[in-house]
Amino acid sequence: MSGGDKLEFEIRPNSAPVSAADRAALLANPGFGRVFTDHMVTIRYAAGKGWYDARVEARAPIPMDPAAAVLHYAQEIFEGMKAYRTASGGVTMFRPYSNAVRFAASAQRMAMPTLPEQTFVDSLRRLIEVDRDWIPEGEDGSLYLRPFMFASEVFLGVRPANEYLYAVIASPVGAYFSGGVKPVTVWVSPDYTRAAPGGTGAAKCGGNYASSLVAQAEAIEHGCDQVVFLDAVERRFVDELGGMNLFFVYDDGTLVTPPLTGTILPGITRESVLTLAAAAGHRVAEHPISFADWQTDAASGRLREVFACGTAAVINPVGTVRSADGEFRVGGGEPGPVTMALRQQLVDIQRGKAADPQNWVYRV
Ligand code: PMP
Repeated sequence: MSGGDKLEFEIRPNSAPVSAADRAALLANPGFGRVFTDHMVTIRYAAGKGWYDARVEARAPIPMDPAAAVLHYAQEIFEGMKAYRTASGGVTMFRPYSNAVRFAASAQRMAMPTLPEQTFVDSLRRLIEVDRDWIPEGEDGSLYLRPFMFASEVFLGVRPANEYLYAVIASPVGAYFSGGVKPVTVWVSPDYTRAAPGGTGAAKCGGNYASSLVAQAEAIEHGCDQVVFLDAVERRFVDELGGMNLFFVYDDGTLVTPPLTGTILPGITRESVLTLAAAAGHRVAEHPISFADWQTDAASGRLREVFACGTAAVINPVGTVRSADGEFRVGGGEPGPVTMALRQQLVDIQRGKAADPQNWVYRV
C-alpha cells in the first residue's frame, strides 16, 4: 500500500506470552524501561512501494544485516508517550496526535519517509489493545510506548536509505517519584552543547541523545541529576535539559520558557503547560533566558520557581543549579506553588480525574 490508503494491521498473537502470575510479579515493581510487553508493532517501508506489512506480532529481536544503513549513518528517530488505566477501567493516551506530528517532523529532518499520522496513532492503539493487561493498575503506573523508525536498507552509500522499519514496543513503568516529588539539581555544562542552529535539535533522533550522554555523565560526576544545555553560538542562553524543557516562574506570576528556534525539542508537555498556565491567568512568554539572568534573578528573588517538564516526570521542580563557577538555589530549593499546582492539574487531566477542555485525552 502507499499514499493515503488505510493500512490494515495483521494481528499475530504471541504463542508463548508471559504467564499471568509472572506478569503480575513484573508489574509489582517494573522500574523504567526494563520490562516489556508480549507484542510489538512493525511496519515496513520501501521507496516506490510505500508502507506495507503492518503487524502486531510477538516481541522478538529484529534480525539486521551488518550493512543496515542505521548502523553506520544513524538515520533513526523515536517518540515517547504513555497509556494510562483510568479509574473506570478504560485506557487513555495523552495527545497522541501531537506525537504523530512530531514524529513526522523528525522524519522530515532526517530525510526519512513520513508515516501518516492516523497510522501512527492506530499502531499505538493496536498494540495497547493486545497488551492492555500490561498497563499497571493504580495511581502512578503507566505503559510507556516507544515508537521508532530506522533505515534498514543494506547499503553503505551516504544518502537517505530506500528502506525503513517502523516499530512500537511498550514498557510498563512505575511511579517516577517514589516518596513524593523531589526537586532536581541541574548541572550547567561548560563544555558540551546539544544542538546548533540548522542542526537536529528539534528532531527526536537517537543521535541527539548519543551526543548528550557525555554531558549527562559529567552532570552525574558533579552530583547532579540532569544536564542543562546552553545555546551553541554564544553559550549564554538556556536551551533545555537532556530530556526535558525548562520553565521560569517570576514574582509577577509570569511563566517564561525558551522559544522554539530549532535547537530545542518542542515538548508536548511544554505546549500543554503554556496552555494551562495561560488559562489559569498567568502571563506566559517564550523568549530567551540567559544563564546570567537566571543567577541574578534567583538571587534577587524575582525568579521564584524553575521547573522541567516532559512525558517521563510530567513536571519536576529544579531546586539547585550547579556550574563550574559554583551553585545557587531557586525558591530556597523547595518545590514552588505554581509548579505544584500545574503539575497536579496536568496529572489530573492525564489520569481522567479533571475536566479536559482541550480534548487532550484520547480514549483507546
Ligand atoms: N526535550 C528533550 C530533549 C526530550 O527528549 C523530551 C522528551 N521527549 C522533552 C524535551 C519533553 O518532551 P515531551 O513533553 O513531549 O515528553
